[in-house]
Amino acid sequence: MIWNEKMECMEKLAMRKIQGERLQQVVKRVYENCEPYRKRMQEAGVTPDDIKSIDDIKKLPFTSKKDLRDYYPWGLLSVPQSEIVKIHASSGTTGKPIVVGYTKNDCDAWAEAGARCFTAFGLNKNDVVQVSYGYGLFTGGLGAHDASMTIGATTIPMSAGNTEKQLLMMHDLGATALACTPSYALYLAESLEKSGMPRNEFKLKAGIFGAEPWTEEMRKEIETRLGIKAYDIYGLTEISGPGVGFECSFQNGTHLSEDLFYPEIIDPETGEQLPDGVEGELVFTTLTKEGMPLIRFRTRDLTHLIREKCECGRTLVRMARILGRTDDMLIIRGVNVFPSQIESVLCNIAEVEPQFFITVDRVNNTDTFDIDVEVKKAYFSEDENQMGALKNKIVHAIQSVVGIQPKLNLVGPDSIQRSQGKAKRALDKRKFK
Ligand code: ADP
Ligand code: ZN
Repeated sequence: MIWNEKMECMEKLAMRKIQGERLQQVVKRVYENCEPYRKRMQEAGVTPDDIKSIDDIKKLPFTSKKDLRDYYPWGLLSVPQSEIVKIHASSGTTGKPIVVGYTKNDCDAWAEAGARCFTAFGLNKNDVVQVSYGYGLFTGGLGAHDASMTIGATTIPMSAGNTEKQLLMMHDLGATALACTPSYALYLAESLEKSGMPRNEFKLKAGIFGAEPWTEEMRKEIETRLGIKAYDIYGLTEISGPGVGFECSFQNGTHLSEDLFYPEIIDPETGEQLPDGVEGELVFTTLTKEGMPLIRFRTRDLTHLIREKCECGRTLVRMARILGRTDDMLIIRGVNVFPSQIESVLCNIAEVEPQFFITVDRVNNTDTFDIDVEVKKAYFSEDENQMGALKNKIVHAIQSVVGIQPKLNLVGPDSIQRSQGKAKRALDKRKFK
C-alpha cells in the first residue's frame, strides 16, 4: 500500500519541476518575511529571481544548528507568531535546545509525511500502534502519534518509560506495532524475556524505530528477540520530526519524501554538492513549510543517496543507513570511530549483549579508548582468567572494524544503564580538558 501514490511514485522530471516551483515559493517567502535569511542572501548576492529551477539551489547559503540557536526562539519564523499552532524543541543531544514553530499547514504536511511511513510499514486502520517515543518537546512521541492517527490506526500514547506498564498495555490492547528508539526496543525485548509473559499472547508484528543511529546487526537482534519486522524511520526536529524518511518492505535504503524535504549531499569540508552514491553530509531544504522554513539546513548526518527506482514502485530517492552524525564521531589516535561500529561488532558475539559504553580520554598526550561491554549471565564470571579468551575475541573483532585496539572491560549482567530514549554510548573526556 502507498499513501500518496501521486507524489511517492512520480516520474523524476515531473518531481524536479514541482521541487523547483516549491523552492521558488519558499525562497520568496523567507526573503520577504525573515530578516536573517534576507540579509544572508543579500550577502551572497542572490535574490529570489535567481531561483528558476531546483538546480539553482546551489546558489543559496546554508543554514545550521548554530543559526537556530543564534535566532532562538522566534528569529527564524517566516510568519507572525500568532500563526504558529505548536512548537517542538530538539532533544538537545548536542547542546542547547533549539525551538521550531509549526503552522496548521505544517502540522498537516508532517502528519501526511508520517502517514506515508506508517503505510509503507504495512500498517493501516486495523492496527494498534503503541507509541513509546517520549511525548513532549521531543518530536518523536507526538510525531508518531499524528502519523498513526492519520492512517486511522488505534493509537496508544504510552510515551517512554514505565517498562512494566508498556508490556502490560502491549499485551492487553493487542498492540501490532511498536514505535520507539531501537535502544528502547532492545530494552523492552529484554524486559519481555525476563517477565516470563508468553510471547505468543502478543500480537506485535512491526517496529517503527528511529531517532538514533542503528545498524543492520541491531535490526536482526531486535527482530529475533521481539519476533517482529523492524523498519527504519528518520527525521529531525528542524525539518519537522519523524517522517522525513522511511523504509519500504524491500528495506533497501530509506525513502525520503523529497517533494516536501529536498535532500542534497555535500562535502562537509568544502560545502560542494556531491554526486549520487558518494557519502557526505545530508542537507535538507523544506519545500512547503510556512512557520520556520529552512533553506539548505546542514544535518551533520553522514550518508549517500540512491536515485534508482525502488522495487516497491516508489521513485522517492533513498538514502543509505546513517552510520552516525559528525558530532557522534570520535577521533581516537587519528582514527574515526563511530559508536555504531561497536554496536555492529557486539551484535555478532553471542556471549555479550549489545550494551556498551565508550570512554575516551587523553593521558600523557595519548588518547585512551576504553569500552565497557556487558556479558550475558550464562557466560559471565568474576574470574578474570576465565574471561580472557572472550576478551581477546572482542578486542580483535573491534580492532578489525575500527582499526585501533580498545581497552576492554567486561562487566556483568545489567551493569550498563539501559536507554528509554536516545542511547548515550560514549563520553569524550577530552572535551572537558
Ligand atoms: P537532537 O539533534 O537533539 O538529537 P532530534 O530529535 O531532532 O534532536 O534528532 C534528529 C537526529 O537524530 C537526526 O539528525 C539523526 O542524527 C538522528 N536520527 C533520527 N532518525 C534516525 C535514524 N532513523 N537513523 C539514524 N539516525 C537518526
Ligand atoms: Zn521502496
